Amino acid sequence: MGLKTITVNTESPQQFIDITHTVRLVVRESGVTRGTCQVFIPHTTAAVTINENTDPNVKQDILDILETIIPSKGKYLHTEGNAHAHAKASLIGSTITVFIESGQLVLGTWQSIYLCEFDGPRTRNVLFRVISG
Ligand code: ZN
Repeated sequence: MGLKTITVNTESPQQFIDITHTVRLVVRESGVTRGTCQVFIPHTTAAVTINENTDPNVKQDILDILETIIPSKGKYLHTEGNAHAHAKASLIGSTITVFIESGQLVLGTWQSIYLCEFDGPRTRNVLFRVISG
């Protein structure tokens, strides 16, 4: 299949949004039963990652840890006020790949896929390519 784009409206300056359900729908719609699903974030202040879906404190801990390492109000050369968001986005990364078996995403029991917003709220695009093989 070609690239598929979905949009996600984020609600906070910094948050993790579980997009696993959307990824499952994209895979189902593709008809691919064995292969890979690539997820790409075409933004410089948002990212994508996989992490725990049960204890919401994990998401908050990661945001807090990132904030400790890269403070929002730090002193930076980039003067748009979102230098921290650029750095956080690069640290987390802009792409993930998930295996597909029997038409299902291969994820661990406690894993979900998260869009990571670091400079919200905004409307974000998430790109997908599902590859058979
Ligand atoms: Zn910027």
